[in-house]
Amino acid sequence: MLKLEDSYIHKGKRRVLIETLRKKGIADERVLTAMDALPRHFFFDSALVNHAYEDKAFPIGEGQTISQPYTVAFQTSLLNINIGDKVLEIGTGSGYQAGILHLMGARVYSIEYNAKLYEHTKKFLPKLGIRIKHFHGDGSLGLGVHAPFDKILVTAGAPVVPSSLLHQLNIDGILVIPVGDRENQQMLRLTKKTEKNILQESFDSFSFVPLLGDKGWKVP
Ligand code: SAM
Repeated sequence: MLKLEDSYIHKGKRRVLIETLRKKGIADERVLTAMDALPRHFFFDSALVNHAYEDKAFPIGEGQTISQPYTVAFQTSLLNINIGDKVLEIGTGSGYQAGILHLMGARVYSIEYNAKLYEHTKKFLPKLGIRIKHFHGDGSLGLGVHAPFDKILVTAGAPVVPSSLLHQLNIDGILVIPVGDRENQQMLRLTKKTEKNILQESFDSFSFVPLLGDKGWKVP
């Protein structure tokens, strides 16, 4: 069991990571401040804890990963989070990304497909004082009962943009989703200008674990 201790060494390593993100082009200070405040090593297995401040994705069990810090920073910046935003995250995983959104003042709803990760993260985040709404299920369909959302963030690679996610956005709402094949995905930002007018912007390519479920990939 990992001790939840944030030493000067951890804080120093986190500062260096934040500077690395800045050099890589992350400019949203709200995102960088939240990432500086949340100890990423708390989300790591004790065997990997020394790697927590590398700008890399790492395994979190169940064949899943905690996203690379640059990816977290990039996706969060695209969302343009405002205090009080109602945000749906699809793919809770370790809970790190949900924690960043929470620290930025969002009201976070997060859904996870994997039962063990869901159970673990639901118990773990409150220990850090991070209170969000946790759901277990297929997020490729969104979370219709709690819609609409101001922002939706998909943290797994999707084969298509599920139309249900666009339906579940408010007007002026933003969906950030990586879309492509199983290995590489293009980061997309879709802004719902009106019910029928969706602005789609395309960014760099990334490599996520697959989004599973009804509108995702079939389990191999
Ligand atoms: N956001 C996470 C974090 O901060 O640790 C990282 C997410 S990990 C890259 C992708 C997550 O999406 C995995 O935990 C996986 O189980 C989950 N996932 C895959 N398909 C899903 C689906 N249809 N609905 C909800 N979660 C899904």
